[in-house]
Amino acid sequence: MKQHSARLDGLGVTIFAEMAQLAVTTGAVNLGQGFPDEDGPEEIREAARRAITAGHNQYAPGTGIPALREAIARHQWRFHGLEVDPDTEVVVTTGATEAIAAAVLGLVDPGDDVLVLEPYYDSYRAVIQMAGGRHRPVTLRAPDFRLPVDELRAAVTPRTTAIVLNTPHNPTGSVLTPDELSAVAAIAIEHELVVISDEVYEHLTFGRPHVPIATLPGMAERTLTISSAGKTFSFTGWKVGWATGPAHLVSALFGAKQFLSYTSGTPFQHAVAEALDLPDSFYSSFADGLRRKRDLLCAGLGDVGLGVFVPEGTYFATTDVAPLGFADGLEFCRALPQRVGVVAIPHQVFHDDRPDGSNPGRTLVRWAFCKRDEVLEEALARLRRLTDPV
Ligand SMILES: *Cc1c(COP(=O)(O)O)cnc(C)c1O
Repeated sequence: MKQHSARLDGLGVTIFAEMAQLAVTTGAVNLGQGFPDEDGPEEIREAARRAITAGHNQYAPGTGIPALREAIARHQWRFHGLEVDPDTEVVVTTGATEAIAAAVLGLVDPGDDVLVLEPYYDSYRAVIQMAGGRHRPVTLRAPDFRLPVDELRAAVTPRTTAIVLNTPHNPTGSVLTPDELSAVAAIAIEHELVVISDEVYEHLTFGRPHVPIATLPGMAERTLTISSAGKTFSFTGWKVGWATGPAHLVSALFGAKQFLSYTSGTPFQHAVAEALDLPDSFYSSFADGLRRKRDLLCAGLGDVGLGVFVPEGTYFATTDVAPLGFADGLEFCRALPQRVGVVAIPHQVFHDDRPDGSNPGRTLVRWAFCKRDEVLEEALARLRRLTDPV
């Protein structure tokens, strides 16, 4: 009997499943997967309950309920000055994950090259492979994880049709600078590339503001901007995401989306429509709270003796485990739950292994700080045992 299709070759089981399982079997504190351990605003949870009670429980329109598409358009204007038509330039998806998958399936042909920033969110590589394309990594390297613009330009081939951008960037926490964005835009325009821009951490920045690449001159017509309610509002289980962009690209995405899920959870769409209209103070205080958690975790990781790279955005901090004498982040993360009772994620799984066996993320490890202070403090107390004599 056939085991699996060739399009799944080499994709294996996502690292998050493996590490979540380890967290459960060892009772470890899970700083692996990026989900908050406190829900978003009660008024928005109440809005979801109200939507169910009011009978919003059947299929929504494929592109999303009008109230949510309008709220997304208002949000893009309020925060970014992006003007989008809620009827033709907005589509609601089952999380950002489906938006990315549908964008790739709707725009990438077998044999196409697609540029991705490495380390890459693992679904990019998987869906590009499922579409028959080839991902071409451009590596953000420690210590500052800046975009190597010349390498990006050099990675373009005659078969390159798209670039999957991600800023604020998971896992490094980098926020692309205006100069980096301009360089990406120039390359995209010169080579007629579509930009699929994953901006799920758009509101989670700690200083350098996030700028959507679609706001740069000449970019609105070639960019799909993707985001989601999961990270912004702490409802990662609701899986309500969206894409905005020019009608022709949104149609291509929807052309694929309609045959993946057709439509996405109706009552949650009603609730997210309300969430998007929360006042600016909601957005800024959430980011401020996260910044405090970032500082708490980063200071503690530094005290343990790890090399800490303080992120400019996202839920995640990165450390180098080499200063503590560990040569491999994956081995470190596999042993850590048993050893001290903490789960983290190795960067190397978000990189391609090089032909010579090397990996730019070999000793880097990612830690989530979107957790209650007590949880972060407990994790740090456990990690201090790392340097206990064995
Ligand atoms: C969490 C995450 C997603 C997935 O978003 P969903 O809305 O849960 O599908 C996509 N991209 C990045 C970079 C993420 O960190």
